[in-house]
Amino acid sequence: NQVTMEKIVSLSKSRGFIFPGSDIYGGLANSWDYGPLGVELKNNIKQAWWKKFVQGNPLNVGIDSAILMNPEVWVASGHVGGFNDPLMDCKSCKTRFRADQIIEAHMAEKGEHADAIDAWGNEKMEKYIADEGIKCSNCGAINFTNIRQFNLMFKTFQGAVEDSSTEIYLRPETAQGIFVNFKAIQRASRKKIPFGIGQIGKSFRNEITPGNFIYRIREFEQMELEFFCEPGKDLEWFAYWKEFCMNWLLRLGLSEENIRFRDHEAEELSHYSNATTDIEFRFPFGWGELWGIADRTDFDLKAHMSQSKADLSYQDPTTNEKYVPYCIEPSLGADRVTLAFLADAYNEEALEDGTSRIVMKFHPALAPFKAAIFPLSKKLNDNAQEVFNTLAEHFNVDFDDSGSIGKRYRRHDEIGTPYCITYDFESVEDQCVTIRHRDTMEQERIKIEDLVAYIAKGLKF
Ligand code: ATP
Repeated sequence: NQVTMEKIVSLSKSRGFIFPGSDIYGGLANSWDYGPLGVELKNNIKQAWWKKFVQGNPLNVGIDSAILMNPEVWVASGHVGGFNDPLMDCKSCKTRFRADQIIEAHMAEKGEHADAIDAWGNEKMEKYIADEGIKCSNCGAINFTNIRQFNLMFKTFQGAVEDSSTEIYLRPETAQGIFVNFKAIQRASRKKIPFGIGQIGKSFRNEITPGNFIYRIREFEQMELEFFCEPGKDLEWFAYWKEFCMNWLLRLGLSEENIRFRDHEAEELSHYSNATTDIEFRFPFGWGELWGIADRTDFDLKAHMSQSKADLSYQDPTTNEKYVPYCIEPSLGADRVTLAFLADAYNEEALEDGTSRIVMKFHPALAPFKAAIFPLSKKLNDNAQEVFNTLAEHFNVDFDDSGSIGKRYRRHDEIGTPYCITYDFESVEDQCVTIRHRDTMEQERIKIEDLVAYIAKGLKF
């Protein structure tokens, strides 16, 4: 379709979805602030995730763990030793690149498949870049430094003294807060394997090459589930969660032709993983990872057992067998999936009267406003306000009395409001209003007392 990143960024700014961060100070590179509509959209997405992955799934429970954790956590998780990106600079213009990303872009240009670069190692990457004569995308020189590893964790200090004993990290993922609480949660909630723990929260990564709007940012939110099962049953549960995640996206209206699974090849798998799949989305700039789904075996719990000396094994109450559970992890970025929903919803339509409209076709469950109430004349404001008050008890709704009804429709099409409700002079007599549907633009007359149930029905997914 006609969507481009420029259009999404510009609509986001002009309508109040997403603004550049710290703008009046000239900004802060790659930081973004969610405006009045953006915060609604993102909250709705997070709620939709929480509803299906935590509240609506009898196997799962939730947690909200701290961003700051004991630094030993990051030793156990491998982030202190290994959470590195391969950096390389152009010697001529000093532009900094991620070696794996230049290779990926080069391969894509040649129409080659770019899997498994993560597993190459520095030497192979350096050799490939030299052999292929890859140019600096900024100045065109073929003159790169060797690769250096750069740790992506943000460091800060806890307490007043700035020495290494008080050095701590902002978490680079939410998952570790789940692993360290595994035993406490299992005991407190009396869960039996299989069960899962979900969390939504901020993560921080000092990304070298952030960009593409909110696709890759340094401060972002993740929605992660760690699902614990018996060893040997992991591939079954892996398949289950793959389908579950895909269905969540489809039921929220993401177009099937814009999403696909990409299974990782054996050579691309982390050493501890039995299987990994990405759900990829066709962003305006190309296909990109949206959701990482990994069978992480018992790697994380065992790593914490050995680092902390705590016993994180599980005893099956019926067989008395003791084991360390395996874990399936579907991990989704809240900002990244917000971008996917924005891009997928965007439509430009030519209308019969020769004009055109921009319409954001969000699923009603995700739309910032569920409905907008329009009094046909200002004389009807008080009556229309009553309708607004009734609906506002249930949903986020808007009241709009400025400009022609046509203009009001256009405004709400552009922010994805699924239902526009006009209160006219007849409404006073018949207690009915006209409800107009965003996507079809069809209108129908409906009783005011039926509105809440009508709108609620549209929100199901
Ligand atoms: P990428 O290869 O795109 O950097 P990743 O493989 O490092 O991603 P994971 O560590 O698997 O990502 O994180 C899980 C999910 O968190 C990703 O699929 C993505 O949706 C989200 N995510 C990760 N890094 C970022 C980021 N810098 N900005 C926004 N979302 C992110």
